[in-house]
Amino acid sequence: MTEKKLPFTKEALEKIIEKYPTPFHIYDEKGIKSYAKRFVKAFAWNKGFKEYYAIKAAPNPYLMKILRNEGFGIDCSSIAELELAGRIGMRGEEIMFTSNDTPAEEFKKAIELGAIINLDDIAHIQYLDEKVGLPELVCCRYNPGSLKEGNAIIGHPEEAKYGFTRSQLFEGYQLLIDKGVKRFGIHTMVASNELDPDYFAGTAQILFELIADLSRKLNITFEFANLGGGIGIPYKPDQVEVDLEKMSEGIRVNYEKYILGNGLKPIKLYFESGRAITGPFGYLVSKVLHIKNTYKKYAGLDASMANLMRPALYGSYHHISVPGKEDASTKIMYDVTGSLCENNDKFAINRVLPKLVPGDIVVIHDAGAHGHSMGFNYNGKLRSAELLLREDGEVMQIRRAETVEDYFATLDFNALPSFSV
Ligand SMILES: *Cc1c(COP(=O)(O)O)cnc(C)c1O
Repeated sequence: MTEKKLPFTKEALEKIIEKYPTPFHIYDEKGIKSYAKRFVKAFAWNKGFKEYYAIKAAPNPYLMKILRNEGFGIDCSSIAELELAGRIGMRGEEIMFTSNDTPAEEFKKAIELGAIINLDDIAHIQYLDEKVGLPELVCCRYNPGSLKEGNAIIGHPEEAKYGFTRSQLFEGYQLLIDKGVKRFGIHTMVASNELDPDYFAGTAQILFELIADLSRKLNITFEFANLGGGIGIPYKPDQVEVDLEKMSEGIRVNYEKYILGNGLKPIKLYFESGRAITGPFGYLVSKVLHIKNTYKKYAGLDASMANLMRPALYGSYHHISVPGKEDASTKIMYDVTGSLCENNDKFAINRVLPKLVPGDIVVIHDAGAHGHSMGFNYNGKLRSAELLLREDGEVMQIRRAETVEDYFATLDFNALPSFSV
């Protein structure tokens, strides 16, 4: 097995830890930028191509600014995410609002920012029209049901709560036309953490054929097709990353066949990928607090599933490196744990690692998406800091760690009754 690479040495980490105590998440700007450039370049054949970073992966304004500089838009699904976009000056069609079960005030905020509204359900047409008013451009989310297989994270499409059925799309776009909507997009997202580039070409084919059908029957022109997110990352050292160029080529072939081949006008392709963009370039850095020997061997860290809950939530593999011990000859099998009063608070089960001692630095890989952002305060755990390793080697704190005062900020120890019911 090849060892996964780190963008910093043990000595560099020790210097960082002197200033910012563990645990923390650190993101590698160089890695993020070069992947973003490669993504955009892979789709250079499509005029107007845009990737909207699914900000839920790592909702930090500094990371978003790096991506915006590479031409990325932002994909939001809540009012706080829209607010983040707004506060760094993002406006209009660089914001995609892909929500579900959406409250009216979130649609209102999205429309105020000029975001592209991506509707999750046919009933939302009426709802949005009544509560806020329909914008000029509307996108609808397609759920292909049994046409696609899905996977463990996203589930089977016919059991997934998202999107319109095929017949609802015909009905829905007609309703939008009747209500005066002039511009149209279409979206689907049926994969999560998918590593097969052909899968995306298959999804594109389904969507392109549907666009041809809808365009013909309803006599409308689609401006864009949003292929969603779901590009996987190789969490395990023996997995291979998605070949973006191959994926793009497969999509291009289907684009020529089903869009241009059906006599349709060129359309813009959009993605709203999150995981692949920052996931591999973020690391959770922690220290070994205790080694415990009972029925098994445990390495207890100063981080917990409150810093990274994917292993506990989905049983996900996250690779672990012990900087400075890469060549250790003694290997031991550990469960690598956090301190929550939950037995699933484990970063790894039966993982063979170099022999650990308290004080060792442990780096958990691929924590740059759905890592810090899935954090929580259960057991009184405070959310940790986020750092950015800049291209020039400087380290910058881009979110401070929470303090006990933050934990109590929503509590009033002297509350009095305000009314009776
Ligand atoms: C989560 C999500 C994404 C991003 O998915 P990744 O797996 O991070 O690429 C994109 N669109 C929607 C609607 C999502 O829910």
